[in-house]
Amino acid sequence: MTSATVSERDDRDDDESASGPRVASPVSETPRNVLAGVTTSADERLRLETCARERIRVPGAIQSYGALLSVDLATFTVLQASENAIDVLGVDTDALIGARVADLAGQDVVERCLAIVQHRGLAANPVAAQIDGRRFDVIIHEADGVGIVEFEPELAGEYSAATVHAAIHRLSAAATVPEIYAQTAIELRHLTGYDRVVVYRFHPDGHGEVVAEDLEDGMEPYLGLHFPASDIPAQARQLYVSKLTRAIVLDDAPPAPLAPALNPLTGQPLDLGHAELRSVSPDHVQFMRNMGQVSTISLSLVHGDALIGMITCAHRTTRRLPYLLREGFAVLARQVSMQLGTAAEIERLTRIDAVRTVRASLARQVKSSDDLSSALIEGEFTLLDLIPADGATLHVDGASTSIGEAPAAMIGPELLAELTGAEAATVVSDAVSVDYPRLHSLMPDIAGVLVVPFGADGDYLAWFRKETVATVRWLGDQSSANRVTPLTPRTSFAAWSESVAGKSTPWDRLALLEASEIRHDLNAALLRAAESALARVALHDPLTGLPNRRLLGDRLEQAMSTLERDAPVALLFADLDSFKQINDSEGHGAGDAVIIAAAGIIRETIRSQDTVARIGGDEFVVVCEGAGRVEAEAAAQRIVEAFTAPLVVQGSQYQVGVSIGIAIAAPGQEPDDLLRAADAAMYRAKEGGRGRASY
Ligand code: GH3
Ligand code: MG
Repeated sequence: MTSATVSERDDRDDDESASGPRVASPVSETPRNVLAGVTTSADERLRLETCARERIRVPGAIQSYGALLSVDLATFTVLQASENAIDVLGVDTDALIGARVADLAGQDVVERCLAIVQHRGLAANPVAAQIDGRRFDVIIHEADGVGIVEFEPELAGEYSAATVHAAIHRLSAAATVPEIYAQTAIELRHLTGYDRVVVYRFHPDGHGEVVAEDLEDGMEPYLGLHFPASDIPAQARQLYVSKLTRAIVLDDAPPAPLAPALNPLTGQPLDLGHAELRSVSPDHVQFMRNMGQVSTISLSLVHGDALIGMITCAHRTTRRLPYLLREGFAVLARQVSMQLGTAAEIERLTRIDAVRTVRASLARQVKSSDDLSSALIEGEFTLLDLIPADGATLHVDGASTSIGEAPAAMIGPELLAELTGAEAATVVSDAVSVDYPRLHSLMPDIAGVLVVPFGADGDYLAWFRKETVATVRWLGDQSSANRVTPLTPRTSFAAWSESVAGKSTPWDRLALLEASEIRHDLNAALLRAAESALARVALHDPLTGLPNRRLLGDRLEQAMSTLERDAPVALLFADLDSFKQINDSEGHGAGDAVIIAAAGIIRETIRSQDTVARIGGDEFVVVCEGAGRVEAEAAAQRIVEAFTAPLVVQGSQYQVGVSIGIAIAAPGQEPDDLLRAADAAMYRAKEGGRGRASY
């Protein structure tokens, strides 16, 4: 079917996933809004499916400006010949079958052809040949076990590969993607002398867009126009990946069939996929004629094994260029592909770098704050710096905090579970009304969402995008009115516009990657928080929240390890006086409340750098770092005095005293010994009459 002007790539990851009603309008009218558009219409799907069945590699015929032979590679005798041999080579087709190429073109031509198919030395197409006074470029390649030998009549005129080299040099100075596209069109029009050179790139859904053009004055420009994927069917695209040039000349002569029709070695039609002269599908002939094109040279832009774009040089009259020059264009196109790849990669890495910086900052904000919303919504960097959107929401513990223009509605746990499924997968859509109707009814102003669940309790992050009404200008009216049947090429190629509504800017790969990374960061932060909560429980007294005996041991050990460096350590061992009475008279609950109040009093009385721990019923220990006798006695005295005032607990007053034992750490002393010494001192304080401190 059709090809040359456009292009495409297989439709693996289409960003435009929506389907739905389509309406379009000519350029003169205001475009009506539609949801999906040309790219997903039923007719377009039918065209793609039909094209996929066409056997473009085995048309059984060639373009008639040259002649083609298939030959036995051992003997170079002719197996098949094109039926125009008499016109091109001056020899009848029947007379050629079984004849030796050596007898036709000379033994030296055969030798050089053999060297090419056997990849010997520097041997390369074309081979110059002369037959009966006519001069040819002979091009040979191997296919289906035979040699395919093509004869292109030599062109009069001066053609120099040096002009291609100069163009490649100039092109290499273009740095940005738009510069590369524009310069390519200019150079190729200059080199080919064709009326119009168009550079296309393919979108992920396979449709193409004209990204650069150089054309003869007065011709209608196609720059910026889009064309449907079916303009270059999948098989043509596949072929364009392995054969980088395709030359078509529509002269008045019909295609020349091969005789016999089948390759005698295989009994199958000959694979002409890599033949220069492969004939043109009737639909594509019609397509070219409707576009006013007579001659074209198409060049592939390939990245890896994907066709990323094409260049088409088109002329309104018969025009041909020699094989060697066309091959030079292929080298140029390869250079363009590489430059495009490099420029795009630099652009990608620059973006990734910027986004990584934002994510690292967000991760830091999350780490240093115990409140996610201040970390992600109110910090220097926010969720919107990570992934561009109109608004973003953090939903945690049943409450939402938003930034930018986010919908007021919250996604409840039930809807979230429905959207994200059993896997708790990220929800991505650039057409919410089509993809998630329930979500759409909850937030009707939103066209695009990215919802990232995290944790296990219905928490999520969400980014929202509003509708972006995009007007796409197409190469030719894409409605059925512009085709005789859905399968025939468009009649007119005048620009035609369509506007696509109900969709947001698509979420690109980088956005999805960052979404999954921040989800990972948040899950890790939640895990850390849970772990530290557990650790807290293990090291603290649940009643007062003070460090327990285990944490006291650690702190004491740490403090005593500094003794060597002349930093004294004192220990105060405090035990409430006659505490049991409160339990007995007021009950255990009141006792508990008194213990909590007593803990508070001790904490308030000591210095902030000292540690107070609860190590038993009414026993508290204070580690005073850097405190000698004077400081320790003063601290103990302050505590004793603080307990002379009645404790007010739950509206009742309690007179609770405290007895304190003081011990000063000696160098080399074990922490447990120090603790025992303080305990013993506390008993002496009790014995001394309570409500006092003692050594
Ligand atoms: P002393 O003046 O000799 O220190 O006598 P005391 O009445 O304060 O009694 P002692 O220090 O020997 O014992 C403390 C009591 O505290 C023992 C126990 O019944 C009580 N107790 C221990 N743990 C708790 C607790 O968690 N809550 C309450 N309400 N009472 C506790
Ligand atoms: Mg006591």
